[in-house]
Amino acid sequence: MKTQRVLQTYNEQDITEGAAREAALRTSEETAQALLDATDDIAVLKELQKRTEMLEVQNLRMLETVDRKSRFFASMSHELRSPMTSIIGFTEILLEDTEEPLTSSQRSLLLKVRCNAERLLDMINDLLDLSKIESGRMTVKVSRVNLPELIQHVVETMTPLVRNKDTCLETEVPDNLPIMRTDEHNLNKILVNLVSNAIKFTPKGCVKISAALKGSKINISVSDTGIGIRRADFCKIFEEFRQVGEHPVGSNGTGLGLAITKKLVHLLGGEIKVSSKLRQGSAFTVVLPVSLSATGGRARRTCKKRQSSDG
Ligand code: ADP
Repeated sequence: MKTQRVLQTYNEQDITEGAAREAALRTSEETAQALLDATDDIAVLKELQKRTEMLEVQNLRMLETVDRKSRFFASMSHELRSPMTSIIGFTEILLEDTEEPLTSSQRSLLLKVRCNAERLLDMINDLLDLSKIESGRMTVKVSRVNLPELIQHVVETMTPLVRNKDTCLETEVPDNLPIMRTDEHNLNKILVNLVSNAIKFTPKGCVKISAALKGSKINISVSDTGIGIRRADFCKIFEEFRQVGEHPVGSNGTGLGLAITKKLVHLLGGEIKVSSKLRQGSAFTVVLPVSLSATGGRARRTCKKRQSSDG
């Protein structure tokens, strides 16, 4: 009986010691694994740090390249502008010179020269604007802006474009709009870009500029009943040098207008949205703060898929 109890106690002790040894073994295995993991982690961290440093260097080089490219475009465009303006000026003089009348073929050739020179000048100006915005040298001058007057001015500037077309140009602007504090020159550019596109892509129909106050923002819409844009292309049209869909005969462009427009809108602290239905028309809406702070907006690079479509 006594011997049996001794044996039982021995066995219990044996089992307890065995379990403790097993547990200790497991703990040391786990510690060893944790150490190995930590060593791996340190190696991974070191690798990550190395790669981050490499990326930082590459990023810096890329920024320098972009800056050099922007400065190159800016100076090239600037140099090209002067001769192009002279060509247009001298062509005007030749066309208006009444002392020595032109033959009809001379006049027709000169009109072509003027038209092409004006197109080139538009392209140069677009490139100049783009490089200025990209290099952060586009200045924002905040002043008091009477939006109805500005819209009226845009309509007067754009009316010649609809004169020989079956397209009307109308406005819907309420009287109670507050005076805005924004950059008039850039807002004018935004509207001119949107309205000239609307006219260009509306061979027959109507283009309307409307404005409405929404809290501390003003929504300015340029809508048309033109060829429309596929939903899949909503994002693409704001990319540089991008043209989509079928272009009406005789229409021209660089694919830079909307890229510049979007950047200018961001510069004015706003956003731009598009809605469109193929063959039914498009509407571009610019949402701007009534009052832009002196620091202006910021340039955003991504295409947020916030555009909407009822198509
Ligand atoms: P561009 O007018 O010089 O081609 P934009 O950047 O202004 O370049 O426009 C990019 C493209 O977006 C146009 O080529 C056209 O395909 C499309 N687009 C812009 N506005 C309209 C519009 N109102 N209706 C239909 N398509 C448009």
